[in-house]
Amino acid sequence: MLTIELVPCLSDNYAYLLRDDASNAVGIVDPSEAPPVLKALERHGWTLTHILNTHHHFDHTGGNLPLKEATGAQIVGPKADAHRIPGIDLGVAEGDTVNFGSQTAEIFDIPAHTSGHIAFWFGDARAVFTGDTLFAMGCGRLFEGTPAQMFQAMRKLEALPPETRVYCGHEYTESNGKFALSVEPDNADLQRNMEAVRAARAKGEPTIPSTIGLERATNPFMRAKSVEQLAERRAAKDSFR
Ligand code: ZN
Ligand code: FE
Repeated sequence: MLTIELVPCLSDNYAYLLRDDASNAVGIVDPSEAPPVLKALERHGWTLTHILNTHHHFDHTGGNLPLKEATGAQIVGPKADAHRIPGIDLGVAEGDTVNFGSQTAEIFDIPAHTSGHIAFWFGDARAVFTGDTLFAMGCGRLFEGTPAQMFQAMRKLEALPPETRVYCGHEYTESNGKFALSVEPDNADLQRNMEAVRAARAKGEPTIPSTIGLERATNPFMRAKSVEQLAERRAAKDSFR
């Protein structure tokens, strides 16, 4: 069993605390900052062994150095961006696997938001960590890549088993859903999902994880039929209010 706990960071980031129940492996995915992570570790009495980064942005790596200094954890991140991942020990890329206790994570290259962006897929646990590439009902901005790359990233992620839980970098779900509804107002799955999302947010609850199956049904970027359509939707989302 892989236990996964959300650790809210900064204003709308999520880091994810992982524990492999069969070993003493404890990981944190995309620590924006150290204090909330250290607090969660202390609450559980766990020792951090791994820091996993999906991409180099500061709101996903800001906790790397203080956490490494406090715990000696190993930092695993995108090989292509090793020069801008603070404290990186192991660079990984498409096809590589990362051992995490009794669990194994497969790495996918999913550049577009940043040129070295990766995803971590824990197949046995049916969980994927998608950083700022795939959001619930959305996708990341194309800061260092192209619509064609984002289109390819969506193909890789949609091929995972539909029950796979999707853990993304930010709580953007409600605003993503508003845009999605503007694109597909008659999508009944989307309408239903938005009701659940609005209810959760009204109670201050997180909307994460989503699932690959739900994204296939509701995400306008995963559902884009062509690179051109994805590009149009991404451009429209950039100025959507
Ligand atoms: Zn980012
Ligand atoms: Fe981010």
